[in-house]
Amino acid sequence: MIRIFLLLFIFQSSFSQDLQSKDYFKNLTSKERKIIVDKGTERPYTGKYNNNYKKGTYVCKACSNPLFKSNTKFDSKCGWPSFEKEIEGSVIKIPDYSLGMKRTEIVCSKCKGHLGHVFYGERFTKENTRHCVNSISLNFIEDSD
Ligand SMILES: [Zn+2]
Repeated sequence: MIRIFLLLFIFQSSFSQDLQSKDYFKNLTSKERKIIVDKGTERPYTGKYNNNYKKGTYVCKACSNPLFKSNTKFDSKCGWPSFEKEIEGSVIKIPDYSLGMKRTEIVCSKCKGHLGHVFYGERFTKENTRHCVNSISLNFIEDSD
C-alpha cells in the first residue's frame, strides 16, 4: 500500500513539473520554441544580444529566472553572447552527445528551457569558461541607474 502511494507521489510530482514547464513555454513564438523547447541553435551573429554591452541582467525568456550579469559577458567573437560565469544556481549543465560531439548543454534551472552550451579551457578569460548562449533564450533588463 505504501509502495503504491509512493509511486503515485512520484508520478504526480513529475507530472506537475511537466505542466509547469509547459506553462512557462506557452507564450513563446514558434521561433523561440524551436530554440528553447526543441534545443535548436540560432545562426551566429544574428542574435539580438550578441553585441549588447549595456549594464544589466540577462534573464530566461520563458520564466524570467536571472541567469547572467552583464559584467561577466565578454566578446569571444564566436557569434553568440558569451558569459564567463552564470548567476549561482541559475543554470543546470547536462552532457550532450548530439551531432557527434561531446558538449555540455546548459538549461535554465527553473523551467529547464534550453540556453546553449558551456565550454572550458579556451583561455578567453580568467574563469576559462564560456557559456555560449542563444540570444533568443534571453531577455535583457538594463540597470536603471
Ligand atoms: Zn527559465
